[in-house]
Amino acid sequence: MTSSFPASTVLGYPRIGPHRELKRALEAYWEGRSSWEELEDAGRRLRADTWRRLAELGLGAVPSGTFSFYDHVLDTAVLLGAVPDRYHAITEQHAYFAMARGTDTTPPLRMTKWFDTNYHYIVPEIGPDVRFGLAPDKILGEIRQARELGLETRPVLVGPVTFLLLAEAAADAPPGFAPLDRLDEVVEVYASLLGVLAAEGVGWVQLDEPALVADRTEAELAAVTSTYGRLGSLTERPALFVASYFGPLGEALPVLAATPVEAVGVDLVRGGTRGLETLAGKTVVAGVVSGRDVWRTDRERALATLLAVREHADHVVVGTSCSLLHVPYDVERETDLDPALRRRLAFAEQKVAEVVELAGLLAATPAAPTPDDGPAAADPATAGPGPAPAPVRSPYEVRAAAQAAHLRLPVLPVTTIGSFPQTGELRRARAAVAAGELDEAAYETLVRAEIERVVALQERLGLDVLVHGEPERNDMVQYFAEQLDGFAVTRHGWVQSYGSRCTRPPILYGDVRRQEPITVRWTRYAQSLTSKPVKGMLTGPVTIVAWSFARDDLPLRDVVVQVADAVRDEVRDLEAAGVSVIQVDEPALRELMPLRRRDQDAYLRWAVDAYRRATSGAGDRTQIHTHLCYSDADEILAAIDALDADVTSIESARSGGRILGEPAVRRFGRGLGAGVYDIHSPRVPAAEEVEESLRAATRALPAGRVWVNPDCGLKTRTYDQVEAALANVVRAARRLREEL
Ligand code: GLN
Ligand code: ZN
Repeated sequence: MTSSFPASTVLGYPRIGPHRELKRALEAYWEGRSSWEELEDAGRRLRADTWRRLAELGLGAVPSGTFSFYDHVLDTAVLLGAVPDRYHAITEQHAYFAMARGTDTTPPLRMTKWFDTNYHYIVPEIGPDVRFGLAPDKILGEIRQARELGLETRPVLVGPVTFLLLAEAAADAPPGFAPLDRLDEVVEVYASLLGVLAAEGVGWVQLDEPALVADRTEAELAAVTSTYGRLGSLTERPALFVASYFGPLGEALPVLAATPVEAVGVDLVRGGTRGLETLAGKTVVAGVVSGRDVWRTDRERALATLLAVREHADHVVVGTSCSLLHVPYDVERETDLDPALRRRLAFAEQKVAEVVELAGLLAATPAAPTPDDGPAAADPATAGPGPAPAPVRSPYEVRAAAQAAHLRLPVLPVTTIGSFPQTGELRRARAAVAAGELDEAAYETLVRAEIERVVALQERLGLDVLVHGEPERNDMVQYFAEQLDGFAVTRHGWVQSYGSRCTRPPILYGDVRRQEPITVRWTRYAQSLTSKPVKGMLTGPVTIVAWSFARDDLPLRDVVVQVADAVRDEVRDLEAAGVSVIQVDEPALRELMPLRRRDQDAYLRWAVDAYRRATSGAGDRTQIHTHLCYSDADEILAAIDALDADVTSIESARSGGRILGEPAVRRFGRGLGAGVYDIHSPRVPAAEEVEESLRAATRALPAGRVWVNPDCGLKTRTYDQVEAALANVVRAARRLREEL
C-alpha cells in the first residue's frame, strides 16, 4: 500500500492567484458579471498554473485540494455533508456562497481567525441532526485535473479531529452537546472517502490536524487515537500523512505516534526536535521552511535540524512549517524594494525552491552524529526584562465624568468603526499617484471631497460621534507602515484574508520610528466640517505588528514596544489638535495569542502594556476607544478591560448577540460598543434586529455604558448598503432611547 513519500513537499500553496485572479473572478461572479462556468474556468486555470509551477521548481510531492473558492474549512464541511438545513433550499453552487456570505434572507455561517493567523475560516455548524454524507466531487475533480496535466497529487483535507474542534454547536443543539460528540460518524465519512481515493489510485492523503498543537484534553487526545486507529485499520486506503503546524505537538506527539498513520508533519520553525524519536518507523515531514514569515531560511540551521530528525525517523521529507497560504507568491516581482532587503526575503516561490534545495543537501549529507535537540525556536514570550510599565491614567469613573461633561452625548451614542466604503475612484487615484500619473495635490483634493461626503452623510443619518472615513488609507496597517521608518511595503505581496479579500502585509525589517504626524490633518479637516465630535483613528501597536511580517532578530515584544511609542506620539498630536475622541484599534490582540495556555498570560501582559503605553498619555477628557473584531473577544475580555480604553467595540452581530449574554460582558467595567451590524455580509439588518441586539446589550450592562456601532469598518461595503444599514441602526438606537 505505502509508496514512499518523495523527498520534498509543501503543506499548501496560495490560491488567490499571483495577480489576484481568483479575487477578480469571484467578484465578477458575485456581481453577476460572469457565469458559474467562467468562475470554474478561472479556478481550473489557477490550479493548473500552481501545479505546473511547483513541478517546474522541482518539488517532489505536489498537493491538491488546497485550492478553494472561498475557504478550505467550508470545503471540508461540504465534503462531509455538514451543511445546516437552512441552506438546503438553496441550489448547490449558491448554497456554498450563501454559507460563506449569506443571502438577503439567510445569514452566513460565522467566520473567525484560523489559529494565530490573519486568515479567516468559515465556522462549520454541527448539531445532533446534521446528516453527514460524502460529497467527494471537488477533491476527485482536482486529482483528475492534475492527472490530465501528467501530475500525481496528494489531496489535502482538514482532518476529522480539527474539523470538529473548529466547528461550533448549532444554535438548536441541546445543552452540553459538542460537535466532537459526532466524531464516530464523521470518521466513517472519512473512511468512505479513503476508500474512494484508494479506488482512484491515490497514494497519499494529507489530513491537517493543526488543532493538536494547542492544549487538548484527555478526551480530545483519545479522539485522535480512535480516529487514526480506525482510519489506519482500513485495508483499502492511501497512505496517511497527518500534518500538524503552528507549534509543537507536545503531548499529542506520542498519541499520534502510536497510531498506524504512515507520516507525521511537524513544525520545526516553532517547535524543536525533542521527542521526535517517538516517530521512529514513520515518515517525518520536517517543516523547516517557515510558511509564516518572508525571511530566507537559514540553510545551515535548517540542515542541522533535518539531520537531527534523520537520527530518529525512518524517512525524512523536507517541507514547510505550514501551508504557504500565508505568504505572497513571488519576491522577484518586487522590483521597487531595496535590493539589500530583497535578498533577505523569500515568498512562496522562493520557499519552494528552498525546500527543494534542502532536500538535495540532506540527501547529499551522510549520516553523522548530531546534537540531540535542534536549535530551539525563539520564544517571544520569554524575552528579557522589558520596558518600564506604562503610566496609569486617572480611574475610569473620573475620566468618564470628565468626558461626559465635555462631549455631551446622548445615551446609546451611535458611531462607526472608522472606515467608510472605499470608492473605485479613490483606489484608482491612489494607483495613479503610485504610477506618477496623478499629482499629490489632485489626490488630496479627492480625499478631502470624500471626507466632506462622509461627514455630511453621518450628519444626515444622525450619528453622534463621527469619523473621517479613512479614505486616505489603502489599509489600516499598510498606511501607517508607509509613514513609519523601519517598514517596507510591497507592490504585489497579497495574502488571502478571507474569500476574495486580501491584504498586503508590510515588512517590518528595522527599528520603527515616526518622523512626523500621520493622521492629524485629515481628522482636523473632518472636525472643521461639523460641530459633532470627530473620532481620530489609529491602529494599535499589536495589530500593526501582527499584520506585518515582523523582523525575527528581536523578541516580538520589543518590536511592539517600538511601534507603541510611535502611536503614542500620534495620540499626543491628535489631542493637541483638539481631537477629543481617539480610537486605537487592536483587532489582532486575540490573534497573536499563543496557542498554549502556559504562554498566554505573559503575552497578554506585554500586549496590554504596549497598548497602554500607546494610549496612556491622553488626558482625562480625551476619550480613548478601541475596537476588536470577532466574538471570541469573550475569551479575553479581562485583558480587554485591562487595556483601560474608555470604550471598546466588539463584534456581536454574526453570533446573534450571543456574546452579550456572557458573564464576562457583565463584569466589563467600561463603555462597550455592541457590534449590531455584520459588515462582512452585504445584507442590510432590519431596525428590529438591531434593536434586539441592543436590548441584549442593555440587559448585560448599564445603558449609560452601551455604545451602538457596526461590528467592523465599512470599507468593504457599498454606500447603498451602508446608508440603509446605518439608517436602521440609528432608528433602533433612537427607539430604545425613548424607553430608557
Ligand atoms: N478602523 C478600521 C476600519 O474601520 C478597523 C478595521 C478592523 O478592525 N479590521 O476599517
Ligand atoms: Zn474590526
